[in-house]
Amino acid sequence: MNVYFHTFGCKANQYDTERVREAFDANGAVVVDDPALADLAIINSCTVTNESEVKLRRLVRHVANSSHAQTIVMGCAAALDNGVIAALPSVRAVVANAEPGTVLRAAGIDDVGAQHAAPPLGTKSRALLKIQDGCDEHCTFCATTLARGNNRSRSVAELVDEARALAEHHAEIVLTGVHIGTWGLGARDSGVVTPGPSPEPRAPSLAGLLEALIAAVPQVRFRLSSIEATEVDDRLARLLIEAPRNLAAHLHAPLQSGANRVLKRMGRHWYTAESYRARIEWLAERLPVFGLGADVIAGFPSETDADHQASLTLLRALPFTYLHVFPFSVRRDAPAARLPGQVPPDVIRQRARELREVGEAKAAAHRLRRRGQTADGVVTGRLKGQVEVMTEDYLSVYLVTDLWDGRPRFEVTVN
Ligand code: SF4
Repeated sequence: MNVYFHTFGCKANQYDTERVREAFDANGAVVVDDPALADLAIINSCTVTNESEVKLRRLVRHVANSSHAQTIVMGCAAALDNGVIAALPSVRAVVANAEPGTVLRAAGIDDVGAQHAAPPLGTKSRALLKIQDGCDEHCTFCATTLARGNNRSRSVAELVDEARALAEHHAEIVLTGVHIGTWGLGARDSGVVTPGPSPEPRAPSLAGLLEALIAAVPQVRFRLSSIEATEVDDRLARLLIEAPRNLAAHLHAPLQSGANRVLKRMGRHWYTAESYRARIEWLAERLPVFGLGADVIAGFPSETDADHQASLTLLRALPFTYLHVFPFSVRRDAPAARLPGQVPPDVIRQRARELREVGEAKAAAHRLRRRGQTADGVVTGRLKGQVEVMTEDYLSVYLVTDLWDGRPRFEVTVN
């Protein structure tokens, strides 16, 4: 069976797809890159924005029109499907989330590989390690927490085993999940808990997990995918400051808004603009090289011009090196869809433009500051005679392949 895979959304989704791909591989399937050659298409869906669902439906129709393949849609949008996805042409099954065995069965395959514990190796020098799933918060714009359920953490023992296997092939491991700052809190992943002595006497925490991972695979550089600024506790901060070879000096810390009134309406109760600012400034003073990104929503319901200006002011004041800007889009399952004060689309577009301009200016200024400086580089890709190298502060540097000696990690000069 020829199988085509496509993933929408976050690194947690990419990790889940890799696990499903490995399971199909273990059952003799052949992975193809062109849906026209496929007997089966497996699409991992995202529900973060309306746009991600529009793209999903467009791809499903494209597969139906350009091949004889049947399609299985899995992931977050699948978990919240009200029949719209199931009714699309050539859809064989809609599978909530992405458990490999469930997807195999939906494809009519009696799983011969049983426990797909093998870590998804992926293809590049950077690997993904999903440490937890779900979230116990209820941000009013978010459907992910509805799709993925409550916070569940994978055990230290299992994660250390998987990191060891990944370290044989990868120079960098990205810790991912849905709300990684809450690893260790809430339920343990019932399926795979391997009881055993917890490495640290204190309550499990992301910092504790990282210390265990770094002790197990000291040659690897870990990177945090996305973490709340105020969930970077002092222990984790110390790792960022004192162990740059083991933990990349890079944070992607969702801000969403610089106005406390809006943060409140978003349900983001665990920080304020002031506490976010204080944590970032404290870290920036201690990190000579620091990659800092944030998610920001433009035009959240009831956002005033003054709220928007507060976001712009905070973004300009902090040492961001890039921004991800999301124009607010109504998610039918998310409470924000029913909030009064929906902002007109043209105003949302204008505000998003202004936020992006700040992000682009920050990114250009950071690259200019770093130009000619040396960085800790990990090869992340090879394309048309060039090697792409990722620095600790999340900059991509391109080298002519002839100048590369084949090492997956080396000191590089930022160009
Ligand atoms: S923290 Fe908020 S935005 Fe993030 S997954 Fe949880 S509910 Fe969604």
